[in-house]
Amino acid sequence: MDDTESSIKINAKFKSIVDFNLALAIYEKQYFTNIVIHKSDILKPPNTKEDIIQFKYKRATFICKYGLQKVSRSRGIRKTSSLRKNCIFKLVVHLVKYTSGHYLVIHKLDDIHTNHELDEKLFKLLPKQRQLSPSKRQFVEQSLSIKGNKVKIQEVILKTGKMITLKDIHNIGSNLNKPSNNILFNVYQQLKEDNGAIVEIIEENNQLMGIFYQDSNMSHNLKFYPEVLFIDATYKLNNIGMPLFILLVIDSHGQSQIAALWLVKGETYCCVKGCCDILKKHNDINKIKVIIGDKDLADRQALFESFPNANIQICIFHVMCSFRSEITTLKRNITGEDVVTVLTTLQKLVYARSESEYNMLFCTYKFEFATGAKIFRYQLA
Ligand SMILES: [Zn+2]
Repeated sequence: MDDTESSIKINAKFKSIVDFNLALAIYEKQYFTNIVIHKSDILKPPNTKEDIIQFKYKRATFICKYGLQKVSRSRGIRKTSSLRKNCIFKLVVHLVKYTSGHYLVIHKLDDIHTNHELDEKLFKLLPKQRQLSPSKRQFVEQSLSIKGNKVKIQEVILKTGKMITLKDIHNIGSNLNKPSNNILFNVYQQLKEDNGAIVEIIEENNQLMGIFYQDSNMSHNLKFYPEVLFIDATYKLNNIGMPLFILLVIDSHGQSQIAALWLVKGETYCCVKGCCDILKKHNDINKIKVIIGDKDLADRQALFESFPNANIQICIFHVMCSFRSEITTLKRNITGEDVVTVLTTLQKLVYARSESEYNMLFCTYKFEFATGAKIFRYQLA
């Protein structure tokens, strides 16, 4: 694709979301316009096949930054925005199946902008355009770390044709001074020296969000024992408050073995998805049948997207924790003795060694607890 001429036009077909995003970015630069997502119908697992899910949208509508504001999921339409000018620009894409495969197709393109100019200077001032490339950001960070003058730093960047405000430079400086960023980068540099290990970083908006680490033994463990993968985060292991995810598999002796480590800024979609993508890039993940995670793993969505063929479950420990928090004298209006009996019963069900043993125990207990129906109604709901 020519990188100066945009291919955004009616009926244009894109064979991946990456190609579409690339074309859109070229279009934005060519016409000094800023396009934002307005509404979308997102492809979700498990009902979508893996080859389709990479398209992200079944349908999506994009509008101009100066158009109607995007609907916020929690608070409805934002009432005020300094940028809102009711521009009518609209771009609609649909995922369409052709005999040669699926494509994102531009279904509608109203490429007229109203109530504002398409001005190069204004365009360059918008926050999205002011975002620095990794090399320019590195230059600013290094200059700030040696106490460089912010005005002089701004001059250097402006000379390259890139817009940057003093506030942008100030913000980069504040982030630089957060201990976690420096420490994380140092950890990354040290790990990189480990020969043969896969060490990659997860970034969002040029911010270091986490580190993926897998040495050759870990790769070997995942390769030879891929069926069940345990993912859990441990907290309070470091003084920068970053959780360490440990990925475990079970070897032929029934012992747990480490398959990978993720040191991340939080249990967020961005961090989990970033790490999953790196895991996918370097390992054959098709043999992973079951993933056992934490019930609180904030973004189980990332796991569902990354491992559409795996069965994602929560572990026995967390199942029992849920039972213990839900079966109480207060919540169920039962005696303390009943609580113990019911929890013991549920534990036996949880530890049943086969489906037939489970069914047998279940029938027995269902009969025994016929009078305490409230508990069973809850558990079976
Ligand atoms: Zn517009």
